[in-house]
Amino acid sequence: MRKRRPNYRLVKIHRSYTVGEAARLLGTHKNTVRAWVKAGLPTCDSTRPTLILGRDLAAYLQARRTKNKRRCQPGEIYCVRCRAPKRPAGDMAEYQATSASLGNLIGICPNCEGMIYRRANRAKLPEIRGNLDITFSEAERHVSESDPPSVNSDFRQG
Ligand SMILES: [Zn+2]
Repeated sequence: MRKRRPNYRLVKIHRSYTVGEAARLLGTHKNTVRAWVKAGLPTCDSTRPTLILGRDLAAYLQARRTKNKRRCQPGEIYCVRCRAPKRPAGDMAEYQATSASLGNLIGICPNCEGMIYRRANRAKLPEIRGNLDITFSEAERHVSESDPPSVNSDFRQG
């Protein structure tokens, strides 16, 4: 999948843009622009439709580019919606094992409230977790285990 990076150089800093205009200008979807607004892109709240100052838009896109280069630190999970590493809300994450040694750390993004995932090697959890509270989900493990159902046989043996 090719990732498109909106080019902040297209933005005229002395103009202001509606969400639709900004999306057209940068070749992204309106929802992408709305997500930026939710994630901290400033708008002029008093106007309707919402206007984004070109100056703010350019600065936001520029800042985002450099932020994207940052890798996840311990205790952080990358949010695909915000396109940035985030500390999960409440510093809480759930570890869902997909195999004996691998799994996903799952948390909630504090900015967009979406689910955020980070692949994690169970053995490396102590390095990855930072100071997150991690709960271990048992549900996934049962699914991946190949034990035959033993409910009935247990009863007969008793
Ligand atoms: Zn997010």
